[in-house]
Amino acid sequence: MASSCSGRGVSESTAARARSVMPGGVNSGQRSIPGLEDLVITRARGSRFQDDTGKEYIDFHAAFGPPILGHNDPDVAAAVAHAARTVDLCGVGVTDAEVQLAEVLVDLVPSIEKALLTSTGSEATFHALRVARAATGRRLVVKFQGCYHGWHDSVSLNVISAPGRVGRHDPISAGILPEVLEATLVLPFNDEDAVRRTFEAHGRDIAAVIVEPVPHNVGCLLPTPSFLQTLREATQKHGSVLVFDEVITGFRHDLGGWQRISGVTPDLTTLGKAIANGYPIGAIGGRADLMDMFSSRPGGPAFFAGTYNGAPAVVAAAVATLTKLRNEPVHEHIFGLGGRIRTALRDLYAEIGVPAVVTGYGSIFVTYFMSGGVPRSYEDLLANRGDLFVGYRRRLVKRGVFELPLELKRSHVSYAHTDDDVDRLLEATREAVLETLQF
Ligand code: PMP
Repeated sequence: MASSCSGRGVSESTAARARSVMPGGVNSGQRSIPGLEDLVITRARGSRFQDDTGKEYIDFHAAFGPPILGHNDPDVAAAVAHAARTVDLCGVGVTDAEVQLAEVLVDLVPSIEKALLTSTGSEATFHALRVARAATGRRLVVKFQGCYHGWHDSVSLNVISAPGRVGRHDPISAGILPEVLEATLVLPFNDEDAVRRTFEAHGRDIAAVIVEPVPHNVGCLLPTPSFLQTLREATQKHGSVLVFDEVITGFRHDLGGWQRISGVTPDLTTLGKAIANGYPIGAIGGRADLMDMFSSRPGGPAFFAGTYNGAPAVVAAAVATLTKLRNEPVHEHIFGLGGRIRTALRDLYAEIGVPAVVTGYGSIFVTYFMSGGVPRSYEDLLANRGDLFVGYRRRLVKRGVFELPLELKRSHVSYAHTDDDVDRLLEATREAVLETLQF
């Protein structure tokens, strides 16, 4: 490939080739970032990744969350290599490792009596809503503004909305049948009255409530102490299925998920991301009577399938990841660094006099540039200054520290990050914020 005069050489030509044969040049929405359209990744290890110019980044984006142990963890890589040499995929029966993984999920997550594997989180939430409709014979689903549950139609609305679209149906995609959108009711997160009013009006038609117990798809909205309990009571009273979408919170915040932290047990739980440290996986688990409705059990009326569900290399990654999460002080380490980052950032913004709310939980951190207390709903986040949020991250990336320069995205710490990585993050953040403010 010819080198370009920009100095990016092969990198520019790889990205250009990508754009000519792949729509947008990337394989998922939100991977092509303004200003970083030519980013070509060549290597990822531990707390860092590298692009094809040889530039190294300390990675706090962490692929939206999966590599909780760090990139290319040696134990996970060894387990995957061993599995790949042993069984690739047979599409019949079960392997011992799939059973082991289901046993671990049942053991660790309070709501899970039985579990099934998918290849993505979207498939897990899709099946949760399908089985909820199958079990209740009802039509409606309730979700919350700011929560993301994947790409399928019933949940493809009201994640990040412009102010005028909040509270109205705001699809994230064209091509969705209006009747599917109408079957999803959208409420403000943490609004217990809205939940009660909605159940009074529509309770007998509501099949399921699906919620990120901590909406991390807009950074971090912590639930008030009684909100999740209110969801539990309303769904129980009206015979609806409560689904906790723990694709982000599961295993990252606690081995038992947010449900163990909050003490509120849903009927179904969806998982993904951190289970397999970067390998493609999702899981759905919950009450045995609901799970037994899936067609994986003969006669189960809710069709469930997937060629790659439980693929041996992926399951090996998951078993190795969960073993390490259980046996090593992973949470102590990532919570320690996460806490250090949040405290230092609060001190930084107080010192330089920028209105900022630094929040998060455990290994997740995010700074909103706004006044006031901790935000409780998406509506509160409309006060965030997007120019600063994205601006300082762009300058951070230039300095080799990667936080995704997109509005409201959270950042993650992994087991591979060190105090030195955090020192570098804090130093670069100070420089990047000061530079953005002068701009
Ligand atoms: N639920 C939540 C809470 C998520 O954050 C995501 C992905 N960001 C999904 C579901 C969908 O998972 P996947 O991208 O693996 O389909």
